[in-house]
Amino acid sequence: MSSRIDWNSIESKWIERWDKQRLFESDPDSSREKYFVTVAYPYPNSPQHIGHGRTYTLADTHARYIRMKGYNVLFPMGFHYTGTPILGMSRRVAAGDSELMETFHTIYKLSDDVIATFVEPVKIARYFHQEIKKGMKEMGYSIDWRREFTTIDRIYSKFISWQFRTLKKKGLIVQGSHPVGWCPRDQNPVSQHDTIGDVEPDFNEYTVIKFKSSNEGRSGASSRSSNSGADGLIVDDDNSGAIILPAATLRPETLFGVTNIWINPEVEYVQAKVDGQRWILSKEAGRKLEFLNHKVEWINAFRGSEMIGWKVTNPLNDTSVPVYPASFVEADSGTGIVMSVPAHAPYDYQALENLKSDNNIQQMFCITIDENSIHPVKIIESEAYEGSIPAAQAIKQAAALDQNKNDHELLEKATSNLYSHEFYKGKMMQNTGRFAGMTVAVAKNEIKEDLLNSGWAETIYELVNKPVKCRCGAECVVKLLSDQWFLNYGDKEWKQQAHLCLGNMDILPEDIRQEFDYVIDWLRERACARKSGLGTTLPWDKEWIVESLSDSVIYMAYYIIAKYVNNKNISEENDNITDAFFDYILLGAGSPDKVAKECKIDSYIIEHIRNEFNYFYPVDSRHSGRDLVPNHLTFFIFNHVAIFDKNKWPQQIVVNGSVLMEGKKMSKSLGNIIPLRAAIKEYGADTIRLAMLVSAEILQDADFSFDAVRGIRSKLAGIFDMAEKCRIMLAHASEQGQGNQQQQPKQTLMLEDRWLTSRLQRTIAETTASMDKLRIREAIYYTLYSLDRDLQWYMKRATARKRENIAGMLLEFLNIQVRMLAPFAPFTAEEVWELLGNRQYLTAERWPVLEEKKIDIVAEESEFLISNLLADIQNIVRVTKITPTKIVIYTSAVWKEQVYRAILVNILNGTINFGQMMKQLISNPETVKAKTDPKIVQRMVEDILSAPLDARNRRLKLAGFNEVTTLQDAQALLSNEISKAEIVVYSEDDPARYDPKLRAKSARPFKPAIYIE
Ligand SMILES: [Zn+2]
Repeated sequence: MSSRIDWNSIESKWIERWDKQRLFESDPDSSREKYFVTVAYPYPNSPQHIGHGRTYTLADTHARYIRMKGYNVLFPMGFHYTGTPILGMSRRVAAGDSELMETFHTIYKLSDDVIATFVEPVKIARYFHQEIKKGMKEMGYSIDWRREFTTIDRIYSKFISWQFRTLKKKGLIVQGSHPVGWCPRDQNPVSQHDTIGDVEPDFNEYTVIKFKSSNEGRSGASSRSSNSGADGLIVDDDNSGAIILPAATLRPETLFGVTNIWINPEVEYVQAKVDGQRWILSKEAGRKLEFLNHKVEWINAFRGSEMIGWKVTNPLNDTSVPVYPASFVEADSGTGIVMSVPAHAPYDYQALENLKSDNNIQQMFCITIDENSIHPVKIIESEAYEGSIPAAQAIKQAAALDQNKNDHELLEKATSNLYSHEFYKGKMMQNTGRFAGMTVAVAKNEIKEDLLNSGWAETIYELVNKPVKCRCGAECVVKLLSDQWFLNYGDKEWKQQAHLCLGNMDILPEDIRQEFDYVIDWLRERACARKSGLGTTLPWDKEWIVESLSDSVIYMAYYIIAKYVNNKNISEENDNITDAFFDYILLGAGSPDKVAKECKIDSYIIEHIRNEFNYFYPVDSRHSGRDLVPNHLTFFIFNHVAIFDKNKWPQQIVVNGSVLMEGKKMSKSLGNIIPLRAAIKEYGADTIRLAMLVSAEILQDADFSFDAVRGIRSKLAGIFDMAEKCRIMLAHASEQGQGNQQQQPKQTLMLEDRWLTSRLQRTIAETTASMDKLRIREAIYYTLYSLDRDLQWYMKRATARKRENIAGMLLEFLNIQVRMLAPFAPFTAEEVWELLGNRQYLTAERWPVLEEKKIDIVAEESEFLISNLLADIQNIVRVTKITPTKIVIYTSAVWKEQVYRAILVNILNGTINFGQMMKQLISNPETVKAKTDPKIVQRMVEDILSAPLDARNRRLKLAGFNEVTTLQDAQALLSNEISKAEIVVYSEDDPARYDPKLRAKSARPFKPAIYIE
C-alpha cells in the first residue's frame, strides 16, 4: 500500500486547501493570546538546500505546535536583498566565472536564459526569492504570506532610515576612525556574510616599538650585500642616519627585559619612509601600515641577513642591544622584526639557547655569543614562576605535562600559560623604574600610553584568523577607516541594557546563554555602512548604504506594517511618510491625527496598525542558526533595547546547529549539496522535515542521511496503512448496523484497550513536556517510535484474541498520534486525519491534552508483566531449543506479596541494607514468613533494584494486583507466540496445582515461575 502513496499530490492538495482557508493568516484577536515566531529571513542569492531547511523547519514546527496549543500565532517571512554578496555574484556572472556557472548548471539546474539575466543584481534576488518562497510553501511552512516584503522595498527603506535616525539621536551611531575587516579589491568593510566560509574577521591590537639604529653595523652588512642584488642599503642624505627597526608586541611591559632583536636573515625587508621617518620592516608589514592610514614611501629592499650584528637602542632605557638571526620570525606576522625577551618569552629563550650553541650560524654572521655574553633579564615576578628565567620554567612545565607535543606546540603552550599567568598574577620588579610594584595589567597600559604619547610606539592590528578571504576572492586585511559610520556597540550603558534584556530572555538551549553574554561584552564599534551593494542609503550621508547586518535587526516590527502596504492601505508610492509615522506606530509617540495629516494616511488605518503592533509585539521567539550568535542575534538584542520600551523587548531566542550530509560537511567540492525542492520532489516534504529534525537536538549538528529518510518514509507509510485498516473496519461496523463512524457501540474494554489508552495519555504528557522545551528529537521519538511500538504490542494482543472490535481503539490512537505528529509532518497528519473521517482541518485543531483519569496503572502493570514473561519464556525456548507443548506459569504466594511491598517501601526510602530489612520483616507478623526463605527475599530485593524507577513507583501504588487473572487474560497471546503451546496458570498457594518439578516455590511477585514441557 505504501508504494501507492503519492506524497507530492497529497502535499499540493493541502497547500492549496490551507491557502484557501487562510489558516495561517493571523490578525489581532483580543479573545486569544498571541505568539509571534520569527526566523532569520533568507538571503536570496541561491536556492535553499537541505542545510538551509533546518532552521526554517524548526521555526515552523514551533509555530505549528504553539498554534495547536490555542495561541494566535503569527509566523511571517521576508527576504533580505541588502548587501554586497548579490552584487559580487552579478559581477561573477558578468565575468563568466566558470565555478559559479558550474554550480548554477549542475546543482541548481538553471537555464542559460535565466543565468544571463543575473548580470543585474536585483534579478538574482528576485529569481531566488521566488524559488525560495516556492520551496517554503512546498515544505508546508505555516507562513502568513500577506506580510512578505524585501529589504529594498520603498517603505522598508523609510523604516530603516527612521531606525538609523533614531539610533543617531540617541548617540549610538558615531563617526570616527576604527579598525575593520576590509576587502582591498572591493574597497569595502567585510564581516561574516561577506567572506568565503562565513568567517568573521577577528583581529588583535599590537604595539609597535621603535628601536633606533645609528646604522653602525652598515659597513659590516654591506660587504655581504651581494645576495640582495644592486639594492644595498642607502643612507638618505637628509637624515642623520637614524633608522627605526619597529618590533610589534602584545606585551609592551616586557620592554625592560629586551636583550636583543630578532631578524629572519632569509626574509626580504624594505626600507621605507613611514610618516616621514626611516623604517626597516617586512614588505607585508609596510602594506599593513598603509591600510592603517600611515604614509609609506618605499625606498629599497634587501635581505634580513644584512642587518645581523647591528646595534639598536631600546627607547625605554636607552640600552643598546644587538640584532641576531632567528628563523621563527615571519614576514607577515607583525612587522617581521621581533624584540627578544628571553626571560619571559619561551620562543625567545629557545632561539637564544639555540643560537648560543650554533657556531656555524655565529661564524656565518660574524657574531660571537656564548653563555656569558647574553643573560635573560627577569622583570616580572609571579607566584608560579619563582626561578630566575620564567620562560625556561614554563617550557619545562609544558614538556612535563605533555611529552607528545612537538617543539612548536610546546612553545605555544608555554607562551600562553606564562602570558596569562603573568598578566593576572604578575608584578613589575625593581628593575623597571617608575613601573616597579605595578601589576602587569596596569603597567602594560601605562607603558604603552607613555610610548605612544612620546612617539616611540604605534598601534597596528593583525588578523588573528588569517587568511580570511572575501567572497570576491581577495585576501582581507585590517583597515583603519576614517570618517566611517559606526554603531557604537562598545558603549558601556548600551551593553548593560543588552545584558539586562538577555537576563530576562528565555534562551534555548540554555547552554548557549553565556556565549551571548560573552559576545555582548566583546563587541565594539561596528561599521554600519558600505559604499556599494543593495540597500537603504544612510539618511544623513547619501554616499553610504546601510549594510546587511545593520538593517536586519528590528525588522520583525515591519511585518506588522508590511501587511498594510501589501493590501494597499498604505501606498508604496507614498512619499509623505515621515519619521512621525514610525514614531507613533512603533513607539506610541505623537498623535494619530497629526500623523495622518502629515503622512496622508487615514487616521483610522494608523490606529489600526498601532493596535496591531501593540497586540503582536514583542517577538515571542526568534529562531536562527548558531553561526548568527556573534552577530545578528546579538545585534537583534542590542537594537531592540536601544529603540523600544522594555515591554517590547524580545522574549526568546532559539539557536540551532547546522546540518551534515551523511556525516560530512556540505560543500560544493564534496558534491553533497542537495537543493531543497529537488529533495521534496523525490522524498516528500514530511520525510525531509522529519529527517532534519530527528537526528539531533537543536544545538547539535544534525546528520541528514538517506537511510534515515527511507526509515522515516516507511514509518509514515505505516501510519497510512493503519488509518486505511481502521477506516475499512469502521465502514464494515457501520454496515453491520453497529453505529456510524463517529459513534462506536459501547463495549467492555479489554485489558489491552485500557493499556493502550493509558500509554497514549503518558505519551501526551511526555511529548508535551519535550515540545515545551523544544526538545524536538525527543518529542518525535515519543510520537513516532515509542507509540508505534505500543501499537505493535496492542495489535499482537488483539490478534491473538481474534478481536474484530478494535476500530474504536485504533481511531482513538490515530486521532491522538496524528495530532502530535502534525507539527513535524503536517501533510501526513492532515491526510490521515481526513481519512479518519474528521471534517475540521487538523492544522486548526488542538494539541491533545492529558486526561489524568485515563491513566490506568493496573493495565500498565499487567502488560508489563505479560511482555516480560513472554520475553522470559522465549529466552528459555531459545536456550533449551525445545518446542513446548505445555507451559505452566506459577504466580507467587500471598505472603511474598506482602514481603515484596515492605521491601519496596524500604528501597524507595533509600534503605538497601539486607540485614536490616530482614530484621524488620521478621519482626512484623504479616511478613514473618520471610524467615522461611531468605534466598527468595534476596532475589526480590534484586528484582526491585533492577526494575525501572517508574515500575517501582507504580507497584507501590498498586493494591491487590491480581497476577493470575492477568496472566489468564494473556493465554491466547502467549500460546500464539510460542508454538501454540497450552498455557496454564496457577498460584503458588493453589494446592491443586500441577507442579512436577517444584518450580512454584521460586515464583516472586511480578516474576512468575515457569515450567515448560
Ligand atoms: Zn572583495
